[in-house]
Amino acid sequence: KSADQQNSQAQPGLVITNFGQRLLVEDEQGTIFNCAVRQHLGKLVAGDRVFWETDTEAGRGIVSAAIPRHSELARPGFRGQTRMVAANIDVVGIVAPIEPGVHPDMIDRYLVAAAQLDIPVALIINKIDLLTSDEDWEELAEILLPYDEMGIDIITVSAHLTDGLDDIKAFLNQKTSVFVGPSGAGKSSLINALVPDLAIRTSSLSAATGLGVHTTTNSILYHLPCGGDIIDSPGVRRFTPSPCSLSELEGYYPDFAPFLGQCRFDNCTHQHEPDCAIRKAVETGDIAESRFASFQSLRQEFAEHFNLSGGQK
Ligand code: GDP
Ligand code: ZN
Repeated sequence: KSADQQNSQAQPGLVITNFGQRLLVEDEQGTIFNCAVRQHLGKLVAGDRVFWETDTEAGRGIVSAAIPRHSELARPGFRGQTRMVAANIDVVGIVAPIEPGVHPDMIDRYLVAAAQLDIPVALIINKIDLLTSDEDWEELAEILLPYDEMGIDIITVSAHLTDGLDDIKAFLNQKTSVFVGPSGAGKSSLINALVPDLAIRTSSLSAATGLGVHTTTNSILYHLPCGGDIIDSPGVRRFTPSPCSLSELEGYYPDFAPFLGQCRFDNCTHQHEPDCAIRKAVETGDIAESRFASFQSLRQEFAEHFNLSGGQK
């Protein structure tokens, strides 16, 4: 055995997906290896950067070290444990569809969740082929105004108009991204439009796992022909904010920042208290009503959560 091992040398790799206790790791030439993982390395997922060594068996290897992540995406799992789903994400694309509608309340929930993970976001408005009049565009612009003012990147696309994908391609270039959003927003349609050989790629990855048809719901990293990578997983598509304290929640609303600390009461919930600077800012139009509404609904939801769980936040 020692003779087999003597040529092995650690080389850098990118985790494409995990299955069971193993990983598909891509080397720097783009070849995929089916790898075991040294036990102490913990759970590695799509987007992780590793060092690995080739095995005696062709196409196989062993991951010997993991490079620290600059970001990670987890989702709530069994019994309050979190389950890691993607690593080293540069941007979360929040996909909001023209049909059934661009809902600020939904957008704000994803914004809070991404802010909690400290990952930058972009707003991807999909199905713009359904906008038929100037009034439709004006209505959309009004909904998006608060986000534009917050400096969030906004990209309007249609997964059905292939030649209209240039903006999103330019945006995703050089980045590792995930798409999140409600079901029906068009996330899979967009990924299909951006990764032309998706089905072929998925089946060749399935073959590499040795499991035949790809049956897992784990995240998979795809290279985009336009540059950049996208990590796709049903498990990351819908993520929700975790309950947090009032002051933390306020911190996730950057548009509230100029007015915080100016209410009469330090622990103002901005609901019914007199001399509330936040409500005043809503009245003067400095804070959008939709933003105030989503804040209050999250605040209430989190307060109820801590009441029920007996927490003291
Ligand atoms: P997902 O649940 O977010 O993955 O959404 P899907 O990609 O499954 O799309 C949901 C529905 O919206 C499907 O019927 C798609 O054909 C449709 N759809 C997706 N993108 C567009 C688009 O750009 N324009 C229009 N008109 N329909 C779209
Ligand atoms: Zn207040």
